[in-house]
Amino acid sequence: MSFKDLQLNKPILRAIAEAGYNDPTLVQEKTIPLVLNKEDVITSAQTGTGKTAAFALPILQLLFDKQEAPKKGKKIKALIVSPTRELAIQIGENFKTYSTYTNLRSTVIFGGTSIEPQKDVLKKGVDIVIATPGRLLDLHKQDVLNLDYIEILVLDEADLMLDMGFIDDVKKIERLCPNEKQTLLFSATMPYKVEQLANTILNTPKRVEVSPTSSASKHISQVLYYVPKRNKIELCLHLLRNTIRGSILIFRRTKFGVDKLEKTLLKNGYKVESIHGDKSQTDRQNALKKFKNGYVNILIATDVAARGIDINSLDAVINFDLPNVPETYVHRIGRTGRAGNTGLSYSLCSADEKAYVKTIQQLINVQIPIEENHPYPLDPKAKPIVHKSKKPKSKHKKGRKSEASKKKKKRWY
Ligand code: AMP
Repeated sequence: MSFKDLQLNKPILRAIAEAGYNDPTLVQEKTIPLVLNKEDVITSAQTGTGKTAAFALPILQLLFDKQEAPKKGKKIKALIVSPTRELAIQIGENFKTYSTYTNLRSTVIFGGTSIEPQKDVLKKGVDIVIATPGRLLDLHKQDVLNLDYIEILVLDEADLMLDMGFIDDVKKIERLCPNEKQTLLFSATMPYKVEQLANTILNTPKRVEVSPTSSASKHISQVLYYVPKRNKIELCLHLLRNTIRGSILIFRRTKFGVDKLEKTLLKNGYKVESIHGDKSQTDRQNALKKFKNGYVNILIATDVAARGIDINSLDAVINFDLPNVPETYVHRIGRTGRAGNTGLSYSLCSADEKAYVKTIQQLINVQIPIEENHPYPLDPKAKPIVHKSKKPKSKHKKGRKSEASKKKKKRWY
């Protein structure tokens, strides 16, 4: 199937061709016709499947078709609610790309940053708003944002939205929009509470299910290292020196863990950035920018901070800590091996995390291969392999040390 078969019009086809999309992904093939048909839709698909375009393209098409007042006096007709700022920004970037050749305007609003510029944009008039719940309600309360003309409401990453405690905000936002509207719900997983939410706010929805969360991509090669907790940092350094190359995303369960690992990697001369919930919005955006444009090749993140972020050409994911929710493992490793590329996933498992491996393997229905040949085995009787310490062979050698020490100074003293 081609995008043309999906009845998208020329300005949109031109923009997606320029973005390098040849054919629609499965989730796009299944979701776009339903949205164009004005159905309410529940799509369960992970990030990385092309789900943003699955709602953004038909929304642009529907709004484009019935555009009356091209410039002035624009009313918000589509609202996309996203749980995290990073995801909202990313969705906003996609809308901008896809709407290049239309005169539809979109804007992103999120908390943790000055409200005034966001008010200014809204006052000028936009067709599409992508927002995090708190700032959206704030702006509505201040009468800068009118939801009375919403025709399409999208709840993205609904499961994460509920995990983050946004249920009441989401329900409130839905009530502020007109009764007569089209509602689309996207969720990576469909736990009971998401079904419940869907039942209360969607109208006889059509369902699309693409690659359930339990199926890890075939393009990802996974490996498991059993290691004593106290040796995880050494093993991580060993892998970075000897095995893992390119752009690497390292997951840690806690913000404290992220900071601690960042400090160690900086000390060892790696170019690294980190994102977690305690960092300011500007810091998080800067970190992401540096990672995306290759200025640093290692990003350390907590699950919530990293969820939904689309990072192109990621070579490897390291699960420094194993997640206690098995679906989170699938989300994490889904950051790599995208769009036909092969990805690598390395999981470091200490004795107290063995139970997590069991539930993960049950979920993905795959036995993750175990790498026993490393210097810090969990079994104390096994003889450690001694490797000579090598300097990291980073692709980003230039200025590595001085940058690392600069950052170290800034952050830790
Ligand atoms: P998403 O699941 O929306 O986060 O999309 C994941 C990545 O796939 C993004 O980088 C998109 O730009 C890209 N993408 C989305 N649709 C297509 C397509 N039909 N062909 C190629 N890349 C796509």
